[in-house]
Amino acid sequence: EQRVQVHSRIHNEVVDLALACNQMADQLEKVESTRQQFVSNVSHELKTPLSSIKVLSESILLQEDVPKEMYVEFLHDINSEVDRMAAIINDLLTLVKLDQKEVPLNFKETDLNEMIEGIIKRLLPLAQEKKIFIHYEKERDVVAMADEMKLTLAIANLVDNAIKYTPENGSVVINLDADHQNAFISVADTGIGIPDTEVGRIFERFYRVDKTRDRETGGTGLGLSITHSTIMMHNGSIKVYSKEEEGTTILVRIPIRQSVL
Ligand code: ADP
Repeated sequence: EQRVQVHSRIHNEVVDLALACNQMADQLEKVESTRQQFVSNVSHELKTPLSSIKVLSESILLQEDVPKEMYVEFLHDINSEVDRMAAIINDLLTLVKLDQKEVPLNFKETDLNEMIEGIIKRLLPLAQEKKIFIHYEKERDVVAMADEMKLTLAIANLVDNAIKYTPENGSVVINLDADHQNAFISVADTGIGIPDTEVGRIFERFYRVDKTRDRETGGTGLGLSITHSTIMMHNGSIKVYSKEEEGTTILVRIPIRQSVL
């Protein structure tokens, strides 16, 4: 009787162990496939501008007596493609740094009102170009523990997107609020919105709702991944509410204090 019990216990333990091993293998496989996908995305994203540069430069090199205007036009296009590659590489480096969890955030008391005002000041010319009205509602002053540089970039990405994906004469409303524990920053626009089926994917690396449309707006598809990673590292959360043709609201929450572990 006792031997049977011991046997069945050992049997159960072996089964549990086997299950755990299988689960671990599944997880590793997932990580590996995400990594492969990422590398293939990076290569593709960099290859596209590179091919354009190749075609543009070759057509100048192969032609005799290139007219000055053509020369200038092609160089201009080459220059834009180089800018695009630089933007992608820049965003990638930011993401890689965020992924290295051992690099700690530089938490300091940060005046979120000042931070938002700085972001608006910087992006105002972009909005004015498109006649987009930026409205800032400050419900209260909020000072939160944050890595000011990283959080600034994260929130600026949201405002930048709000301007980018809103047609002329639209508006962008930024709101700052807090309760006892959390700071809330929302960025709402009257833009093109995001289809329900895509909302869940916009934080993925290189994900763009409409590749042709977004190529024109000059995005890299990495901005929201950077924002998402940054907010997670602040132990916060980020939510998206969007309706096509009506607009998008992104709500960020971060704790005012960071518990020291
Ligand atoms: P991108 O550099 O292309 O803007 P992001 O990672 O910042 O990349 O955003 C991913 C995609 O999510 C965008 O390409 C766009 O399709 C969609 N998106 C982000 N913000 C908005 C917004 N405010 N309104 C509509 N679509 C948005």
